[in-house]
Amino acid sequence: MRQRWWSLTAAALLVAGAVVPAGPAWAAAPTFKVPFPCNQSWSGQTRSDHSPANAIDFNRTDDLGDPVVASAPGTVDRVTDLGGTSYGKYVRIDHGGGYTTYYAHLNGFNVSVGQQVGYGKVIGWVGSTGGSTGPHLHYEQRLDGADIKVKFNGTVALYWGTKTYTSGNGCSSGTGSGTVDTAGSPLTVRSGPGTGYSSVGTVADGATVTIGCQTSGTTVTGTFGTSSIWDRIGSGRFIADAYVYTGHDGYIPNVPRC
Ligand SMILES: [Zn+2]
Repeated sequence: MRQRWWSLTAAALLVAGAVVPAGPAWAAAPTFKVPFPCNQSWSGQTRSDHSPANAIDFNRTDDLGDPVVASAPGTVDRVTDLGGTSYGKYVRIDHGGGYTTYYAHLNGFNVSVGQQVGYGKVIGWVGSTGGSTGPHLHYEQRLDGADIKVKFNGTVALYWGTKTYTSGNGCSSGTGSGTVDTAGSPLTVRSGPGTGYSSVGTVADGATVTIGCQTSGTTVTGTFGTSSIWDRIGSGRFIADAYVYTGHDGYIPNVPRC
């Protein structure tokens, strides 16, 4: 975690996210990542008069021709040029479970229909085609054809406004590091990702921990707010991320899910 005492709104979103099914038949949502190469930072804007409303427009300085990458594994099912209107040149990826992503106003394509893509795969380049007035990437996530609020690493994007998003897409996976902050008392280590698992020890306040993977479990309110994320710090050893400073809100970009 990064920020202490998240707003009540953010905490409520997290809790809601844990109990509301993602879609029909409880299909698991793909873990979408920022649609640009690893470690790049882009300004993403949402606005209520956007069409569709939940789309994000991404920009950075001198972005014309910059690579756009698949935000999750899937199969390319549209590589379409609408000419001077609407999306212009766009790619759609089918991620299964009813989930699709759209990448519009591209300058050019780097994939074809039917192609399987993974994280970090370059699918095209930022352009200003279609009904665009300047270079940017128009990006959407849809479920069963309806646009949904964009999530990266399971965290909802900023609605409404402009925020900088740093990509963890296609980065080689690795371990993370965190510092336990409990304001004094030792933090209980559990055998699994939840308070219902047995205690298998403690880590001291101020201790540095190595995080091999992260997963969702019991929602905990701690030093850094309310979170359902648990950090695996060893074999059969989990601690609540709400008490761990990792430098990131939500999941750490390069650390895998357990
Ligand atoms: Zn747009």
